[in-house]
Amino acid sequence: AIQVKNLNKSFGENNVFNNLTLEIKKGEIVSIIGPSGKGKSTFLRCLIGLEEFGSGEIICNRKKMGMVFQNFNLFPNKTVLENITEPLILVDKIEKATAIEKAKKLLERVGLSDKENTYPKYLSGGQKQRVAIARALAKDPEVLLFDEPTSALDPFMTAEVLKVIEELKDNKDMTMVIVSHEMDFVNKISTRIIEF
Ligand code: ATP
Ligand code: MG
Repeated sequence: AIQVKNLNKSFGENNVFNNLTLEIKKGEIVSIIGPSGKGKSTFLRCLIGLEEFGSGEIICNRKKMGMVFQNFNLFPNKTVLENITEPLILVDKIEKATAIEKAKKLLERVGLSDKENTYPKYLSGGQKQRVAIARALAKDPEVLLFDEPTSALDPFMTAEVLKVIEELKDNKDMTMVIVSHEMDFVNKISTRIIEF
């Protein structure tokens, strides 16, 4: 699903990647671990196209990629439902009724049907992250990237978010790349662990 060949990336004098080469196959669940500053976030951002890189090649289908961030990145002035439907309607030009139907199904899947009309500021961190996951899933991604999805959450909220991510594993075709320091979770969910 993803091929990275001889990737080089620097911020000024700081060489983050030196000819990084790796391949992630469809259906793999790859966790990336490693110390702070090693480039885990930068790598995910390069994959999805949020970050330019110096040289090398990344072969993947960005249109089929979704990303979940540490700090949720929800639209504060949109309801939970709108957070999911707006990108579908405005970016993907999906009809409103279809988008709403899809969003409702996804909210059910992440256990948040009762929060449809709530604004993000009234949600717990775990609930916000589950909305973010539902929003990423709404694009029918083939690849989902998670950048420390639980590091802003307490242990209870972490558990509810990790459970949702684990359930995504039931879809055998879904490829996931996960940056996480939750080693129990990483060991349990991953088909491969890469250390940066
Ligand atoms: P953490 O575990 O703390 O999240 P990380 O492995 O995700 O760390 P990155 O955030 O990818 O690390 O950063 C990799 C390196 O690139 C670090 O040395 C960081 O200082 C540098 N870096 C990241 N983003 C920028 C930026 N926008 N401008 C300059 N340097 C940056
Ligand atoms: Mg990071």
